[in-house]
Amino acid sequence: MLYSVGHSCFHYHTVSDVSQTLLSKATYKRKTPAILAFTSKTWEELGTLNQLATNGYQALALDLPDAALKFLDRMASELGLPVVKVEVCPGRVVAIMTWMGTNPGLKSILLNSHTDVVPVYKEHWKYDPFAAFKDADGNIYARGTQDMKCVTIQYIEAIRRLKAKGQTFARTTHLMFVPDEEVGGHKGMEMFINHPEFKNLNVGFALDEGLANPGEAFTVFYGERNPWWLTVRCPGSPGHGSRFVENTAAEKLRSVINSFLDFREKEKHRLNTSECFTLGDVTTVNMTMLNGGVAYNVIPAEMDVSFDMRIPPAVNLQEFEEQIKRWCREAGEDVTYEFAQKHMNQTVTSTDESDPWWHAFSCTCKSLNMTLKKEIFPAATDSRFIRAVGLPAIGFSPMNHTPILLHDHNEYLNEQVFLRGIQVYEKLVPALASIPPQPGEE
Ligand SMILES: [Zn+2]
Repeated sequence: MLYSVGHSCFHYHTVSDVSQTLLSKATYKRKTPAILAFTSKTWEELGTLNQLATNGYQALALDLPDAALKFLDRMASELGLPVVKVEVCPGRVVAIMTWMGTNPGLKSILLNSHTDVVPVYKEHWKYDPFAAFKDADGNIYARGTQDMKCVTIQYIEAIRRLKAKGQTFARTTHLMFVPDEEVGGHKGMEMFINHPEFKNLNVGFALDEGLANPGEAFTVFYGERNPWWLTVRCPGSPGHGSRFVENTAAEKLRSVINSFLDFREKEKHRLNTSECFTLGDVTTVNMTMLNGGVAYNVIPAEMDVSFDMRIPPAVNLQEFEEQIKRWCREAGEDVTYEFAQKHMNQTVTSTDESDPWWHAFSCTCKSLNMTLKKEIFPAATDSRFIRAVGLPAIGFSPMNHTPILLHDHNEYLNEQVFLRGIQVYEKLVPALASIPPQPGEE
């Protein structure tokens, strides 16, 4: 669907275009953890996610490299920008459009977006989630309208307008489109960040996705919490279910669960009683898996419990792990834990006015009368890989007065909010790309 507004043609048909094109490849996880990759042909043959669901598949993300790349090729040729594609691993391609600056020796600006989307449960949507239906209020419904095809198109349209005005800037701007973000970014940004082609981009500052804000303010993210996924193993004395066996796995398990969930309550209380705290400022703990036992009358030799914890950058990780060790010791003999995931990077991006990148970003927003709310991202984005190699990255999707609907049914974005976002990048890109040479540059 193509909408024309006034004299210029805004490509918000592309919001659905991208989403739709992103459906060319799907990654599925069977309930046993075997990962199966489907080709775009398989996808077409299968038809809907519902069919897959009835066959015991759970879709983790939709990624349609061929179609997405074709779309990006078209955009690049419309913008008159060269595009480089790097296959970071089989079937996973990163595309980069480059708008060369007049002083290419200076560090560049990276505008990053991911091309994949999460699946939909079509029966819960008011409209076809891949048709980009616009209702009478101007709300555009489609998977990816908030996460983050809106931003992808806003980058492209802002560059289109700046180029049409004949503007040039000292610093180079790269538009980067990465796959795999929705399943962890391991075969996307994480691999590409250490690739020689990434180093060649000579990035100085990156913009990546953020979240909508239901109020007047715009949320910006300067750091992320570290996910720790761990399983605690509680071995115990086995025996017959009719006796009072000592030192059972279940007693230890109870102690472990109590320790973790008591801590959870304290953190929840901290969040709810502090006016300035957001989810990104506290540690969330959730018990997500429980395993053990073979029969009603057999006291098991082991019971295990797994937790998903998200730890803010301000927490001392060594001390935090000591606390986990203590909880295990207190639970009884031989209680151990192991990590399935343990992220340790606590780098945050400077939001100090003395930082030239932040200064340019925040001053531009101020000049547009935008109120910024600085937060730690509660979940994870590709920004963590950028920050981990020491580069500043701000998570920002210019969506205010918008409920947070990423990954949700009926994800939508109002066209006015979307169009204003283009204007925001139309100011941000020149401001960032015109930052004078900094000490150490040239
Ligand atoms: Zn996203």
